[in-house]
Amino acid sequence: MRNSFLLFIGFFIATSFFSCETSVKKEYRSVSKTSLEEKIPEFNADSSWFFVNKQVGFGSRVPNTQPHAECKEFLKEKLTNYGAQVIIQTAEVTIFNGQKLKLSNIIAQFYPERVNRILLLAHWDTRPFSDQDTVDKDKPIDGASDGASGVGVLLEVARHFRKDTIPGNKGIDIIFFDGEDYGQPDESRFRQADDSYCLGAQYWAANPHVGNYHATFGILLDMVGATGATFYKEGNSEQVAPDLLKKIWNKANKLGYSDFFRFESARNITDDHLYIIRKTNIPVIDIIHLDEQTATGFPVWWHTQKDNMEIIDKRTLKAVGQTVLGVLYE
Ligand SMILES: [Zn+2]
Repeated sequence: MRNSFLLFIGFFIATSFFSCETSVKKEYRSVSKTSLEEKIPEFNADSSWFFVNKQVGFGSRVPNTQPHAECKEFLKEKLTNYGAQVIIQTAEVTIFNGQKLKLSNIIAQFYPERVNRILLLAHWDTRPFSDQDTVDKDKPIDGASDGASGVGVLLEVARHFRKDTIPGNKGIDIIFFDGEDYGQPDESRFRQADDSYCLGAQYWAANPHVGNYHATFGILLDMVGATGATFYKEGNSEQVAPDLLKKIWNKANKLGYSDFFRFESARNITDDHLYIIRKTNIPVIDIIHLDEQTATGFPVWWHTQKDNMEIIDKRTLKAVGQTVLGVLYE
Protein backbone atom coordinates (compact mmCIF):
# COMPACT_ATOMS: atom_id res chain seq x y z
CA MET A 1 0.00 0.00 0.00
CA ARG A 2 0.97 3.55 -0.47
CA ASN A 3 2.97 5.68 1.88
CA SER A 4 0.39 8.31 2.72
CA PHE A 5 1.25 11.01 5.18
CA LEU A 6 -0.74 9.89 8.15
CA LEU A 7 -2.17 12.07 10.81
CA PHE A 8 -4.01 10.00 13.29
CA ILE A 9 -7.08 11.54 14.76
CA GLY A 10 -7.87 10.89 18.35
CA PHE A 11 -5.00 8.76 19.51
CA PHE A 12 -5.25 8.35 23.23
CA ILE A 13 -1.63 8.40 24.22
CA ALA A 14 -2.50 7.93 27.86
CA THR A 15 -4.01 4.51 27.20
CA SER A 16 -0.92 3.12 25.55
CA PHE A 17 1.33 3.06 28.60
CA PHE A 18 0.20 -0.24 30.01
CA SER A 19 2.22 -3.35 29.32
CA CYS A 20 1.05 -4.90 26.04
CA GLU A 21 3.14 -7.99 26.62
CA THR A 22 1.42 -9.23 29.78
CA SER A 23 -2.14 -8.52 28.77
CA VAL A 24 -1.76 -10.05 25.32
CA LYS A 25 -0.23 -13.25 26.70
CA LYS A 26 -3.06 -13.68 29.14
CA GLU A 27 -5.69 -13.21 26.43
CA TYR A 28 -3.94 -15.58 24.06
CA ARG A 29 -4.31 -18.42 26.55
CA SER A 30 -7.89 -17.80 27.54
CA VAL A 31 -9.63 -16.58 24.42
CA SER A 32 -10.59 -19.65 22.44
CA LYS A 33 -12.32 -21.57 25.20
CA THR A 34 -14.88 -19.07 26.39
CA SER A 35 -18.36 -20.55 26.45
CA LEU A 36 -19.80 -17.57 24.56
CA GLU A 37 -17.77 -18.38 21.47
CA GLU A 38 -18.16 -22.15 21.52
CA LYS A 39 -19.31 -22.45 17.91
CA ILE A 40 -16.41 -20.49 16.43
CA PRO A 41 -13.71 -22.84 15.14
CA GLU A 42 -10.32 -22.54 16.78
CA PHE A 43 -7.79 -20.62 14.71
CA ASN A 44 -4.48 -22.44 14.87
CA ALA A 45 -1.68 -19.85 15.02
CA ASP A 46 1.03 -22.51 14.59
CA SER A 47 -0.51 -23.57 11.31
CA SER A 48 -0.82 -19.96 10.18
CA TRP A 49 2.83 -19.25 11.13
CA PHE A 50 3.86 -22.28 9.08
CA PHE A 51 2.07 -20.85 6.02
CA VAL A 52 3.81 -17.50 6.47
CA ASN A 53 7.19 -19.19 6.85
CA LYS A 54 6.55 -21.39 3.82
CA GLN A 55 5.91 -18.37 1.58
CA VAL A 56 8.97 -16.51 2.86
CA GLY A 57 10.98 -19.69 2.27
CA PHE A 58 10.38 -19.44 -1.48
CA GLY A 59 12.23 -16.10 -1.51
CA SER A 60 10.78 -12.69 -2.37
CA ARG A 61 7.56 -13.20 -4.34
CA VAL A 62 8.27 -10.47 -6.88
CA PRO A 63 6.15 -10.86 -10.04
CA ASN A 64 7.90 -12.57 -12.96
CA THR A 65 10.47 -14.38 -10.78
CA GLN A 66 10.94 -18.05 -9.91
CA PRO A 67 9.97 -17.76 -6.19
CA HIS A 68 6.75 -16.01 -7.28
CA ALA A 69 5.93 -18.86 -9.69
CA GLU A 70 6.67 -21.52 -7.06
CA CYS A 71 4.60 -19.77 -4.42
CA LYS A 72 1.68 -19.47 -6.83
CA GLU A 73 1.66 -23.26 -7.31
CA PHE A 74 1.80 -23.80 -3.54
CA LEU A 75 -1.15 -21.47 -2.90
CA LYS A 76 -3.21 -22.92 -5.71
CA GLU A 77 -2.65 -26.47 -4.49
CA LYS A 78 -3.37 -25.61 -0.85
CA LEU A 79 -6.66 -23.86 -1.64
CA THR A 80 -7.72 -26.70 -3.95
CA ASN A 81 -7.00 -29.21 -1.16
CA TYR A 82 -9.22 -27.18 1.14
CA GLY A 83 -12.12 -27.67 -1.26
CA ALA A 84 -12.04 -24.44 -3.27
CA GLN A 85 -12.59 -24.02 -6.97
CA VAL A 86 -9.49 -22.05 -7.86
CA ILE A 87 -9.15 -19.62 -10.75
CA ILE A 88 -5.84 -18.02 -11.67
CA GLN A 89 -6.74 -14.69 -13.23
CA THR A 90 -3.84 -13.42 -15.31
CA ALA A 91 -3.32 -9.84 -16.42
CA GLU A 92 -0.62 -7.97 -18.26
CA VAL A 93 -0.07 -4.57 -16.70
CA THR A 94 2.33 -1.69 -17.28
CA ILE A 95 4.19 -0.51 -14.20
CA PHE A 96 5.44 2.98 -13.32
CA ASN A 97 8.68 2.60 -15.31
CA GLY A 98 6.94 1.45 -18.48
CA GLN A 99 7.89 -2.21 -18.02
CA LYS A 100 5.25 -4.89 -18.63
CA LEU A 101 4.42 -7.37 -15.89
CA LYS A 102 2.34 -10.51 -15.96
CA LEU A 103 0.25 -10.76 -12.81
CA SER A 104 -1.77 -13.63 -11.35
CA ASN A 105 -4.67 -13.04 -8.99
CA ILE A 106 -5.43 -16.27 -7.14
CA ILE A 107 -9.19 -16.64 -6.65
CA ALA A 108 -10.56 -19.44 -4.44
CA GLN A 109 -14.32 -19.97 -4.52
CA PHE A 110 -15.86 -21.89 -1.62
CA TYR A 111 -19.46 -23.01 -2.15
CA PRO A 112 -19.60 -21.25 -5.56
CA GLU A 113 -23.32 -22.10 -5.93
CA ARG A 114 -24.30 -19.96 -2.94
CA VAL A 115 -25.64 -16.50 -3.72
CA ASN A 116 -24.83 -14.78 -0.44
CA ARG A 117 -21.05 -14.23 -0.72
CA ILE A 118 -18.26 -12.81 1.41
CA LEU A 119 -14.89 -11.63 0.10
CA LEU A 120 -11.65 -12.23 2.01
CA LEU A 121 -8.61 -10.48 0.58
CA ALA A 122 -4.84 -10.21 0.92
CA HIS A 123 -1.92 -9.62 -1.43
CA TRP A 124 0.56 -12.40 -2.12
CA ASP A 125 3.30 -10.50 -4.00
CA THR A 126 6.18 -8.75 -2.28
CA ARG A 127 7.82 -5.40 -2.90
CA PRO A 128 10.75 -5.59 -5.33
CA PHE A 129 12.79 -3.01 -3.41
CA SER A 130 13.40 -1.87 0.17
CA ASP A 131 13.06 1.81 -0.53
CA GLN A 132 12.42 2.69 3.12
CA ASP A 133 15.67 1.02 4.20
CA THR A 134 18.82 2.99 4.91
CA VAL A 135 20.94 0.47 2.99
CA ASP A 136 20.05 -2.23 0.46
CA LYS A 137 17.36 -0.05 -1.10
CA ASP A 138 17.39 -2.08 -4.33
CA LYS A 139 16.93 -5.44 -2.64
CA PRO A 140 13.47 -7.06 -2.64
CA ILE A 141 11.88 -7.55 0.77
CA ASP A 142 10.96 -10.87 2.41
CA GLY A 143 7.48 -9.49 2.96
CA ALA A 144 6.86 -11.67 6.00
CA SER A 145 4.22 -9.31 7.33
CA ASP A 146 3.69 -7.18 4.20
CA GLY A 147 2.32 -9.97 2.01
CA ALA A 148 2.81 -13.38 3.58
CA SER A 149 0.95 -12.70 6.84
CA GLY A 150 -2.43 -11.87 5.27
CA VAL A 151 -2.19 -14.94 3.06
CA GLY A 152 -1.02 -17.08 6.00
CA VAL A 153 -4.02 -16.03 8.10
CA LEU A 154 -6.52 -16.64 5.28
CA LEU A 155 -5.07 -20.07 4.45
CA GLU A 156 -5.61 -21.14 8.05
CA VAL A 157 -9.13 -19.64 7.97
CA ALA A 158 -9.80 -21.55 4.71
CA ARG A 159 -8.68 -24.83 6.29
CA HIS A 160 -11.92 -24.76 8.31
CA PHE A 161 -14.32 -24.30 5.41
CA ARG A 162 -14.58 -27.94 4.48
CA LYS A 163 -15.13 -29.41 7.94
CA ASP A 164 -16.84 -26.57 9.83
CA THR A 165 -19.96 -25.67 7.84
CA ILE A 166 -20.37 -21.92 7.59
CA PRO A 167 -23.73 -20.84 9.01
CA GLY A 168 -26.22 -18.72 7.08
CA ASN A 169 -25.71 -20.42 3.73
CA LYS A 170 -22.75 -18.17 3.01
CA GLY A 171 -20.29 -18.68 0.16
CA ILE A 172 -16.76 -17.36 0.48
CA ASP A 173 -14.34 -16.02 -2.12
CA ILE A 174 -10.74 -15.62 -1.09
CA ILE A 175 -8.67 -13.51 -3.45
CA PHE A 176 -4.91 -13.22 -3.17
CA PHE A 177 -4.07 -10.16 -5.25
CA ASP A 178 -0.84 -9.84 -7.18
CA GLY A 179 1.14 -6.67 -7.91
CA GLU A 180 -0.06 -4.83 -4.82
CA ASP A 181 3.40 -3.67 -3.84
CA TYR A 182 5.01 -2.74 -7.18
CA GLY A 183 4.22 0.93 -6.54
CA GLN A 184 6.59 3.70 -7.49
CA PRO A 185 9.10 4.65 -4.79
CA ASP A 186 8.98 8.26 -3.61
CA GLU A 187 12.57 8.82 -4.74
CA SER A 188 12.14 7.64 -8.32
CA ARG A 189 13.72 9.06 -11.47
CA PHE A 190 10.48 8.45 -13.38
CA ARG A 191 7.63 10.91 -13.43
CA GLN A 192 5.28 10.21 -10.51
CA ALA A 193 2.59 7.87 -11.78
CA ASP A 194 -0.94 7.71 -10.36
CA ASP A 195 -2.31 4.47 -8.98
CA SER A 196 0.98 2.57 -9.28
CA TYR A 197 0.14 0.28 -6.33
CA CYS A 198 -2.59 -2.37 -6.09
CA LEU A 199 -2.33 -3.43 -9.73
CA GLY A 200 -3.93 -6.85 -9.32
CA ALA A 201 -6.84 -5.41 -7.34
CA GLN A 202 -7.34 -2.66 -9.90
CA TYR A 203 -7.51 -5.29 -12.62
CA TRP A 204 -9.96 -7.50 -10.72
CA ALA A 205 -12.20 -4.56 -9.77
CA ALA A 206 -12.54 -3.75 -13.49
CA ASN A 207 -12.73 -7.44 -14.52
CA PRO A 208 -14.27 -9.55 -11.76
CA HIS A 209 -13.99 -13.33 -12.23
CA VAL A 210 -17.80 -13.62 -12.37
CA GLY A 211 -20.06 -11.25 -14.36
CA ASN A 212 -22.11 -8.92 -12.11
CA TYR A 213 -20.15 -10.20 -9.14
CA HIS A 214 -21.46 -9.14 -5.78
CA ALA A 215 -20.48 -9.85 -2.20
CA THR A 216 -22.28 -8.72 0.94
CA PHE A 217 -19.00 -7.39 2.32
CA GLY A 218 -15.25 -7.83 2.12
CA ILE A 219 -12.35 -7.91 4.57
CA LEU A 220 -8.82 -7.07 3.44
CA LEU A 221 -5.83 -8.14 5.54
CA ASP A 222 -2.52 -6.33 5.07
CA MET A 223 0.48 -6.53 7.43
CA VAL A 224 -1.28 -8.61 10.07
CA GLY A 225 1.61 -10.67 11.45
CA ALA A 226 4.08 -8.48 13.33
CA THR A 227 4.69 -8.29 17.07
CA GLY A 228 2.60 -5.62 18.78
CA ALA A 229 0.60 -4.75 15.65
CA THR A 230 -2.06 -2.07 16.05
CA PHE A 231 -5.11 -1.92 13.81
CA TYR A 232 -6.92 1.42 13.77
CA LYS A 233 -10.13 2.32 11.98
CA GLU A 234 -8.76 3.12 8.52
CA GLY A 235 -10.45 6.11 6.88
CA ASN A 236 -11.82 4.62 3.64
CA SER A 237 -13.16 1.62 5.54
CA GLU A 238 -14.89 3.82 8.07
CA GLN A 239 -16.44 5.96 5.33
CA VAL A 240 -17.92 3.11 3.28
CA ALA A 241 -18.66 0.51 5.93
CA PRO A 242 -18.83 2.03 9.43
CA ASP A 243 -21.19 -0.66 10.75
CA LEU A 244 -19.12 -3.54 9.38
CA LEU A 245 -15.97 -2.01 10.82
CA LYS A 246 -17.61 -1.57 14.20
CA LYS A 247 -18.91 -5.14 14.14
CA ILE A 248 -15.45 -6.56 13.43
CA TRP A 249 -13.72 -4.37 16.01
CA ASN A 250 -16.38 -5.26 18.59
CA LYS A 251 -15.90 -8.95 17.83
CA ALA A 252 -12.13 -8.62 18.24
CA ASN A 253 -12.55 -6.80 21.53
CA LYS A 254 -15.07 -9.34 22.79
CA LEU A 255 -12.61 -12.10 21.97
CA GLY A 256 -9.97 -10.30 24.04
CA TYR A 257 -7.88 -8.60 21.35
CA SER A 258 -8.30 -4.98 22.40
CA ASP A 259 -4.52 -4.43 22.36
CA PHE A 260 -4.51 -5.05 18.61
CA PHE A 261 -7.90 -3.66 17.49
CA ARG A 262 -8.10 0.00 18.54
CA PHE A 263 -11.21 2.13 18.18
CA GLU A 264 -9.33 5.31 17.23
CA SER A 265 -9.69 6.56 13.65
CA ALA A 266 -6.81 6.82 11.19
CA ARG A 267 -6.33 8.58 7.84
CA ASN A 268 -7.29 7.05 4.48
CA ILE A 269 -4.89 4.44 3.12
CA THR A 270 -4.51 3.56 -0.55
CA ASP A 271 -4.76 -0.21 -0.44
CA ASP A 272 -6.45 -2.94 -2.49
CA HIS A 273 -9.86 -2.26 -0.94
CA LEU A 274 -9.96 1.31 -2.29
CA TYR A 275 -10.17 0.18 -5.92
CA ILE A 276 -12.93 -2.29 -5.15
CA ILE A 277 -14.88 0.37 -3.28
CA ARG A 278 -14.50 2.73 -6.24
CA LYS A 279 -15.51 0.23 -8.95
CA THR A 280 -18.11 -1.91 -7.23
CA ASN A 281 -20.65 -1.32 -4.51
CA ILE A 282 -19.10 -3.93 -2.22
CA PRO A 283 -18.23 -2.50 1.19
CA VAL A 284 -14.68 -3.60 1.99
CA ILE A 285 -12.73 -2.79 5.13
CA ASP A 286 -8.96 -2.94 5.62
CA ILE A 287 -7.31 -4.47 8.68
CA ILE A 288 -3.85 -2.95 8.37
CA HIS A 289 -0.96 -2.38 10.78
CA LEU A 290 -0.49 1.34 11.33
CA ASP A 291 1.87 3.01 13.77
CA GLU A 292 1.39 6.45 15.26
CA GLN A 293 5.03 6.64 16.39
CA THR A 294 6.71 6.68 12.95
CA ALA A 295 7.05 9.44 10.35
CA THR A 296 5.47 7.31 7.64
CA GLY A 297 2.56 6.15 9.80
CA PHE A 298 3.52 2.56 9.02
CA PRO A 299 5.59 0.21 11.21
CA VAL A 300 9.38 0.80 11.35
CA TRP A 301 10.15 -2.31 9.31
CA TRP A 302 7.76 -1.33 6.51
CA HIS A 303 9.41 -1.68 3.08
CA THR A 304 12.77 -2.57 4.63
CA GLN A 305 14.87 -5.72 4.97
CA LYS A 306 13.55 -6.03 8.52
CA ASP A 307 10.18 -7.27 7.27
CA ASN A 308 11.32 -10.86 7.82
CA MET A 309 10.29 -13.88 9.95
CA GLU A 310 11.86 -12.33 13.07
CA ILE A 311 8.98 -9.87 13.38
CA ILE A 312 6.24 -12.49 12.95
CA ASP A 313 4.31 -13.17 16.13
CA LYS A 314 1.77 -15.96 16.51
CA ARG A 315 -0.26 -13.84 18.92
CA THR A 316 -0.92 -11.28 16.19
CA LEU A 317 -1.83 -13.96 13.63
CA LYS A 318 -4.16 -15.47 16.23
CA ALA A 319 -5.87 -12.15 17.04
CA VAL A 320 -6.64 -11.44 13.40
CA GLY A 321 -7.49 -15.00 12.34
CA GLN A 322 -9.73 -15.72 15.32
CA THR A 323 -11.55 -12.44 14.74
CA VAL A 324 -12.17 -13.24 11.06
CA LEU A 325 -13.45 -16.71 11.98
CA GLY A 326 -15.61 -15.11 14.67
CA VAL A 327 -17.24 -12.80 12.12
CA LEU A 328 -17.78 -15.59 9.58
CA TYR A 329 -19.19 -18.16 11.99
CA GLU A 330 -21.46 -15.85 13.91
ZN1 LIG B 1 3.86 -2.88 1.06
